Amino acid sequence: MEIVEVFSSIQGEGRYVGCRQVFVRLAGCNLACDYCDTPGSRGGAAAGRVEAAPGRRDFFTVANPVPAGALAGYVNSLLREPHHSVSLTGGEPLCQAAELADLVPRLAGRRYLETNGTMPDELAVVLPHIDIVSMDVKLPSTAGREWWDEHERFLRLASTREVYVKMVLTGATGDEEFRRALSLVAAVDRRIPVVLQPVTPVGSVTGIAPEDVLRLLAAALDVVDDVRVIPQTHKMMGQL
Ligand code: SF4
Repeated sequence: MEIVEVFSSIQGEGRYVGCRQVFVRLAGCNLACDYCDTPGSRGGAAAGRVEAAPGRRDFFTVANPVPAGALAGYVNSLLREPHHSVSLTGGEPLCQAAELADLVPRLAGRRYLETNGTMPDELAVVLPHIDIVSMDVKLPSTAGREWWDEHERFLRLASTREVYVKMVLTGATGDEEFRRALSLVAAVDRRIPVVLQPVTPVGSVTGIAPEDVLRLLAAALDVVDDVRVIPQTHKMMGQL
């Protein structure tokens, strides 16, 4: 697989914020969100880095592509200390769906997929081996185009497992696109948890005003049952 890095840290986003995870950051992405905080993961790289001891930041370099068996060995070695799960993240991990389906059955821990939610056909390949899906719903104001059809197919599939939806809110988030995203979730199952994530401002991307967060939160709770507002906490903690 084409990897960027493998390391142990603390989940900083979403429903499992605060849980210790082994992160497998895979290379490649099919999107170019304007708030992307892992732009280095979007392309390929000749080599990735792997932490030797969990949490020590004692990385060694491995050449890409890394065979699934070797990658599982690196991950399972970090799992010698207790972790909640293994986060398969990126980039967009489903860009390597066939290879991912080969990797995940070899992992010793629970499998947590962090995905932009735009590749339902690829999700179908991997989903039998996944325990928890963290699915982004990308709003057109930041993703550059609409992904409603792909998102709905994706969420229907993912809802056969444990799933929650994450939505990044910026200063450009519009009421109409927000309402449409919430309607999409409710059409699948209004009990699916939704996490609203105020953006960490980057480049030209501005943060959302606190009063707008409260207004959107109220609108969301009219449509779905479980909504929380959680910013990126790993950045506050200085974690990877
Ligand atoms: S989907 Fe994720 S990795 Fe890809 S561009 Fe958007 S924020 Fe970055």
